[in-house]
Amino acid sequence: MRGRTIMSKVYAPGSIGNMEIRNRFVMTAVNLFYCKDGYINDRVIEFYRARAKGGVGLIVAGVVAVDNEYFMDAADPSSICIHDDSYVPGLRKLTDAVHAEGAKIFPQLWHMGAYASSRLFKDGRDTVGPSPVPSNYSRQTPRELTIPEIERIIDCFGKGAKRAKEAGFDGVELVGSAGYLISQFLSSKTNKRTDKYGGDLQGRMTFLLEIVAKVQENVGDFPIMVRLSGNEFVPEGNSNPEAVEIAIALEHAGISAINVTGGWHETGIPQLTMDVPAAAYLYLAKQIRAAVNIPVVSSNRFDASTAEKVIDSGEMDFIGVCRALIADPAFVSKAQRGDYDLIRPCIGCNQGCMDNVFKDKSLTCLVNPEAGREAELLAAGKLHAEIPVQSPEHILVVGAGAAGMEYAKVAANKGNTVTVWEASDSYGGQLLLAGAPHDRHDFYRLNNYLYRACEAAGVSFVFGKRAAADEIVAKIEDGSFDRVVLATGAEPITPHIEIEAGANVVQAWDVLLGKVGTGKNVVVVGGGAAGVETAVMLAQDGTLDSETYKFLSIYRAEEPKTLYKLLTTGNKRVSLLEMQKKMGADIGPSSRWIMVGNLKRYHVDTYNLTKVLYITKEGVVCENVESGEPTTILADTVVLAIGSKSVNYLAKELDGRVEKLTIIGDAVKPCKVMDAVKDAYDAAISCHIPVSAN
Ligand code: SF4
Repeated sequence: MRGRTIMSKVYAPGSIGNMEIRNRFVMTAVNLFYCKDGYINDRVIEFYRARAKGGVGLIVAGVVAVDNEYFMDAADPSSICIHDDSYVPGLRKLTDAVHAEGAKIFPQLWHMGAYASSRLFKDGRDTVGPSPVPSNYSRQTPRELTIPEIERIIDCFGKGAKRAKEAGFDGVELVGSAGYLISQFLSSKTNKRTDKYGGDLQGRMTFLLEIVAKVQENVGDFPIMVRLSGNEFVPEGNSNPEAVEIAIALEHAGISAINVTGGWHETGIPQLTMDVPAAAYLYLAKQIRAAVNIPVVSSNRFDASTAEKVIDSGEMDFIGVCRALIADPAFVSKAQRGDYDLIRPCIGCNQGCMDNVFKDKSLTCLVNPEAGREAELLAAGKLHAEIPVQSPEHILVVGAGAAGMEYAKVAANKGNTVTVWEASDSYGGQLLLAGAPHDRHDFYRLNNYLYRACEAAGVSFVFGKRAAADEIVAKIEDGSFDRVVLATGAEPITPHIEIEAGANVVQAWDVLLGKVGTGKNVVVVGGGAAGVETAVMLAQDGTLDSETYKFLSIYRAEEPKTLYKLLTTGNKRVSLLEMQKKMGADIGPSSRWIMVGNLKRYHVDTYNLTKVLYITKEGVVCENVESGEPTTILADTVVLAIGSKSVNYLAKELDGRVEKLTIIGDAVKPCKVMDAVKDAYDAAISCHIPVSAN
């Protein structure tokens, strides 16, 4: 399979308006927060240049603010801006860089409207929207726009498009999705106006259609694409039939393509997390495509083989991918060569991207430590990672977890000879724990990628090999290795609490790996990410499986209410105890509401502000940390999920005996997978600067 050219039509040219694109992949827009005061810099340019070089057909850059009046004051980091002519020269550098790599580029013209927050405005002025409807995103109530203000914003879109054309963009995208200003006008939830910009769907479309007309007036024959929510998934909002009507009106207005996504940012239906199935929202785009004759883009959670299938079956014209390209800029070219298993997969974790963006911070990536650092690494002479080292070494990496494999892969790609010793019989380390819950399996994809990428780079693995300090020293002395890298990970903590003899107490790690079973009444101690995931996984035990659910649904064998109960009610009674106020406090905002929501969904009993006093054979005796009120929770199994500590005994034993000793990841200090991967990458790419054990 590897190295051959895949013949799918997804790699064949397609057209939007009068513009030909080299393939059917569109990089959809995301707010990078890489600019200062809205001006393009090398960080933005090198980020997009890498994606263009990696083979994507069309990049939609942005978001790109058309109006600073109701956007935000000058900020660093900030979004890209186009509300002034002074932005044009920088944008020209961006379009030149992308064009030089053979890709096309649009800006996504954007106005936040009520999704802005007045905390971003130095003078504290109100946010604005079509109507004073409280926003579930900004948690503020916008001021209703006057007609002259609406006309001014329409003009801003037109002027933004004109500047985009001057800056060398190949077309423009208008964002009419996600809950931003255009979608606020389109939606019956947020548009309560009684003038020509409100009322029925026709009236609510007026703002968007006038923007389209203004853009056409400013740029003439220039491709315009509109990004639409295929279903807002917001109560009282538009659903798919309205989206189809809007698409038809846009086609009549003369736009060139529709880019279809799922719901708004505030929707209660997951859009971005790893429990969203591949291409889950394709069905929304298909309804729109059936109603129009212009090209349609479908996006959300596409992998390469799904994209090929969807395009080859004629279901769609273009495929939108964003995070897949953040994770691996060469996603398209690797897929086209058939190197599917060498694509660094986006795992839908959002830890580096959306969790940062939702906090107005620069976008990074858990699986790709280069994302957003391309310019910085280039300036330091460290990109591309495959640049050979001048004096290759023989390197021993101890530990085949995420950090060990990331280090081994990068070091081997730089021309070093790398051997990995792993004490267990398989690779993965804590990735195997992270991926164990049913809806977290994407971590297995990262695990498999790291192993395959190591293999392709020529890394040798020895499994079942417990490293001993004396043997390592002997191997250094006989010249087998020049450098030793310790990626020995971490192990779970056992708390200093009294446990009655005979009580069934196990570690969450062993439960997640299926090494130990649990009874009917389970108490999980520790409500961080590991505890939440373990509690939900246990509570899902015995719930209806997807095949049976499909079977019963197709034959309408049971009422939807009964099916929902079967899907969410398992065999066990699970309780989760946490000393802090919040469950899952260490989970990022993009995923926390879903994971913590699952506790309720699967009937896990939660006890916040609860401290364990001791564990008996009957259960857990605890108290409320504020009131001191004691409670006993009956349990036949107690699962500990209270954290981990570094495994770094080798560091101490090798200290002073091995000159080139590097320690990475959890072995330095327990950390998140994202930090471990970045730590490993930085160590490998920085020519192995030794780090001392603490
Ligand atoms: Fe994908 Fe996670 Fe990277 Fe975001 S941080 S692009 S979700 S792998």
